[in-house]
Amino acid sequence: MTLSSKNPETIVLHAGHRADPTTGAVAVPIYQTTSYQFQNTEHASNLFALKELGNIYTRIMNPTCDALEQRVAALEGGAAALAVASGQAASAMAIQNLARAGDNIVSSTDLYGGTWNLFANTLKDQGIEVRFVDPEDPEAFARATDDRTRAYYAETLPNPKLSVFPIREVAEIGRPLGIPLIVDNTAAPILCRPFDHGAAVIVYSTTKYIGGHGTSIGGLIVDGGNFDWDAVPARQPALHTPDPSYHGAVWVDAVRPLGPIAYVLKARVTLLRDTGAAMSPFNAFQFIQGLETLPLRIRAHCENAARVADYLQAHPKVERVIFPGLAKGKAKERVDTYLNRGFGGLLGFEIKGGKDAGASFINGLELFYHVANIGDARSLAIHPATTTHSQLTAEEQIASGVSDSYVRLSIGIEHIDDILADLEQALAKA
Ligand code: PLP
Repeated sequence: MTLSSKNPETIVLHAGHRADPTTGAVAVPIYQTTSYQFQNTEHASNLFALKELGNIYTRIMNPTCDALEQRVAALEGGAAALAVASGQAASAMAIQNLARAGDNIVSSTDLYGGTWNLFANTLKDQGIEVRFVDPEDPEAFARATDDRTRAYYAETLPNPKLSVFPIREVAEIGRPLGIPLIVDNTAAPILCRPFDHGAAVIVYSTTKYIGGHGTSIGGLIVDGGNFDWDAVPARQPALHTPDPSYHGAVWVDAVRPLGPIAYVLKARVTLLRDTGAAMSPFNAFQFIQGLETLPLRIRAHCENAARVADYLQAHPKVERVIFPGLAKGKAKERVDTYLNRGFGGLLGFEIKGGKDAGASFINGLELFYHVANIGDARSLAIHPATTTHSQLTAEEQIASGVSDSYVRLSIGIEHIDDILADLEQALAKA
């Protein structure tokens, strides 16, 4: 069946899998296998030579992961995707696929704390410099660019600041230079389709809203198939020079007959092959289950979060509420442009009384879980300054929007009365 629907509610149920060809199973089966029987030696050699695409070994591809990859690629309007072991693996590989020692990327300062660490320390140790710029000023990306800049990087809806990234503005700076924009869309699936605004690559932590039930860690890299890697060949040597790790393949040429998937196919058959951060088929199955109800859940997250924002704004113990639905001026224009179906389920607030009041509030919660996660069906809370962002320096914390009194909430899909009652009683203790 060719799926013609453009509606996410339909795509998440039908793209990438119809029925299992051998058993007729409707649910995507868990192909819990390491390897695959080749038809003959010619078939095996064609697969290794990329003359035809097919299953070789589960570290590199797996049919359950493939269904997830196809489904999310269809949801985003992309060409192909790659499932990996975590969101962190997705971010790291998305960059390492283009940048080598001596190269640089330009990134927004507004990042998940773990990504900040990856960029500021681990990639730096590998010789890849990450130049951080303020996303409020898209031109800052242009100013930080030089001949060795291989990619731009940002999050659609970064927490804790929750100010929407100017995707189109930055993508348009990069395209004539041959520089793709990689967007982490973890906090805004369904709400924003970054490829529609010019992004070239999307990364996800599927651990969050896509999984939705707090059971599995995973990540995805989605190739938009919409970026002209040939526009400025010198800009992307990783795709334009012979790759000794794959008997001299020049990726843009080798993959051309297979479609506009050179970027993501290279990531699969070199980086995933060599570094091994593969998604397990069982986790892929869990993410497929989550994905099938994602549009419904996202709607409920958005409705509840908007109600919580209203409630907190009126509360005397709350200094300030940070929520995309309350954005003003330029920030509101970006919300209106990029978040088409709601403001998301994340929300921050600054509590009167600083760190101590924040701690008392978190310790007083009964329904909310106190965890380092977002995007679960359950409501979650955390104090970033002492947890997720604690490895950042004080200056870095301020730059990424974390103050001592900031509390982050990930609003779940429980009944709104119960969410508000828990906030009420915990604020009374703060
Ligand atoms: N990107 C964002 C926006 C995140 O919030 C997270 C995790 O919190 C990650 C990436 C990393 O994902 P994972 O925990 O699956 O490695």
